Amino acid sequence: MIKYILWDIDGTLLNFDLAETRAIRKCFDLYGLGELSDRALQDYKKINKFLWEKLEEDKITRTEVLEGRFKKLFDKYSYQVDDIPAFNIVYQKALGQTYVLNENARETIENLGDKYAQYGVTNGSIIAQEGKLKGAKLDKYLRDVFISERIGYEKPAREFFDYVFDRVGSANPDDYIIVGDSLTSDIRGGNLAGMKTIWYNPASLINELGFKVDYEVTDLIDIVDILEENNE
Ligand SMILES: [Mg+2]
Repeated sequence: MIKYILWDIDGTLLNFDLAETRAIRKCFDLYGLGELSDRALQDYKKINKFLWEKLEEDKITRTEVLEGRFKKLFDKYSYQVDDIPAFNIVYQKALGQTYVLNENARETIENLGDKYAQYGVTNGSIIAQEGKLKGAKLDKYLRDVFISERIGYEKPAREFFDYVFDRVGSANPDDYIIVGDSLTSDIRGGNLAGMKTIWYNPASLINELGFKVDYEVTDLIDIVDILEENNE
């Protein structure tokens, strides 16, 4: 019987792609770097995704992701930014002020609010995540938000979810379901922790990685019916 829903934030409840674009453009403005070309933006997104996946595999550090992505972008396009750690902080703040809800995100968690205890589980940074959740007014629906930067482990690590289980107060994986858009962090994390998984896959991508997806949705609102049937 599912009692607890663990929500990924970026790309699941919030439209990360759009927020990221706005935040990085804002930083380019603030730093007087001129307009960021679409090509450079796409390059940045690729670099960022690649580095986050390395972090999920525990192959590089958080700082190597957060600062390395900008270093790579600036090197490639010859932008002169001397203090990359400072640039990253400005970016995190901009990201915290930029939030776009995914379709039906609020309706879904509002609807599920009476029946389940809901939590956020995210690999984002503390500054950005807390700002966004407050701004998007999602914080009132979530009993707690577990942020990897605070816990010291990233999804999909078992240790991340052990911490969550401990804080929520049940060590039984059958009590939980995780909802997320990432196969490598959310779905794999759910598999490693032994809980059921819902893959939010609005672009209908193919699951080529072999992680076990129990349910797949392209619209978040479908989760309401899935959970109802699951618990019958
Ligand atoms: Mg995500």
